[in-house]
Amino acid sequence: LQGNSLAARDVASFIHPYTNLATHLDKGPLVIERGQGVFVYDDTGRDYLEGMAGLWCASLGFSEPELVEAAIRQMRALPFYHTFTGKGHEPSILLAEKLKAMMPFPASKVFFANSGSEANDTQVKLAWYVMNARGEPRRKKIISRNKAYHGVTVAAASLTGLPNNHRDFDLPIANILHTDCPHHYRFAEAGETEEAFASRLADSLEAMILREGPETIAAFIAEPVMGAGGVLTPPATYFEKVQKVLSKYGILLIDDEVICGFGRTANMFAAETYGITPNSMSVAKALSSAYMPISAVVVDQQMFDGMVEESRKIGTFGHGYTYSGHPVAAAVALRTLELYEERNILGHVRDVTPHFQKRLRGFADHPLVGEVRGVGLLGAIELVADKKSKRSFAPDKGVGTAAVARALDHGLIVRGIADSIAFCPPLIITQAEIDLMFDRFAMALSDIEAWVAK
Ligand code: PLP
Repeated sequence: LQGNSLAARDVASFIHPYTNLATHLDKGPLVIERGQGVFVYDDTGRDYLEGMAGLWCASLGFSEPELVEAAIRQMRALPFYHTFTGKGHEPSILLAEKLKAMMPFPASKVFFANSGSEANDTQVKLAWYVMNARGEPRRKKIISRNKAYHGVTVAAASLTGLPNNHRDFDLPIANILHTDCPHHYRFAEAGETEEAFASRLADSLEAMILREGPETIAAFIAEPVMGAGGVLTPPATYFEKVQKVLSKYGILLIDDEVICGFGRTANMFAAETYGITPNSMSVAKALSSAYMPISAVVVDQQMFDGMVEESRKIGTFGHGYTYSGHPVAAAVALRTLELYEERNILGHVRDVTPHFQKRLRGFADHPLVGEVRGVGLLGAIELVADKKSKRSFAPDKGVGTAAVARALDHGLIVRGIADSIAFCPPLIITQAEIDLMFDRFAMALSDIEAWVAK
């Protein structure tokens, strides 16, 4: 790392999230300078096709001038005001109205936060708040799933079902439980159909509820497609069966659409893709095409009535962030949602999805590929040591990490989740860019094949 380079200054001063802090000291960062469409450029001018839309979020790509304009306009009009103690401003009101109208379930009201993690922390608190209103204060437990990703703040990290987010942090907190991960390829028994697997998981969920006592369970939270856990699409009939169990015991269903929302699965929300009718939904990321940090929790009438009732009893609703509904973030999000409609982004996603899925699934026959899975413009390729037995590579071999590094060499940014490689490009990606993305990945995979054979 040279003298006064940005990389050297980074290493001297900056703590990176989700980074091996020890190896980073020698390596330094990849410094990204600008973006254009689905590409980003480093400080040497090299282009990378952003196959992950950043972190599953920059749906309109990296250079949308309309969003820049929306931010500037709002900065000039009112750069900040808060929404505590009954204050309001136009951008947050219009955004709440718009979001509510878009929801695929009977939505009542919208609460704003700044990140997916904050939205899901809010979900935990709202579930508790509403259960107090119902006169069922013992209903404190929230059921999440192994391999779920719901964020990293203390409650959200507890909902997350990945060891790395718990180990060292004394998590999960009390009252957070994890049920089975619905990954058919990894967890189904030999010969078990998707439907039979889904039934077994729903039975296992019901057994957990009965074991714990239904009167102690407030809510169940799920991503329709589990993103950071490996892009795990649910087995057929899974949500239908899970919802039957939840409604039998009066348990709230929280739908975390932080990745899946706003067209990613080729419907505006994945609730439509999988027939989910939640009591509340978390959204973030593509809500603003990631141009400003903003997230939202959208609740149904039953939940909002509970919140009002509890507030009537105790006074002030004791939750909220300085930047809840921040006017600049709200203005950018509102413009984002308008652009989705004006440009028929959903229509575009539906047009290019078959090509994306065909190219993705084209890797299924590769000797190193165990499973290819995906929906809409979301997908993953799982690399295995033995295709027949599904045996994974030894974790310390770092095959996923190596594949991500080789992809970068070939001008492609993807994400490794153990040995699964995730694809989640900006929704504006064209058919030609989809080809370029998978052509670059094919070169990386050839490199890995040669490396593994050595
Ligand atoms: N929920 C899901 C499904 C996510 O994928 C993420 C982030 O990737 C989060 C929540 C947390 O969002 P944030 O990183 O904005 O806190």
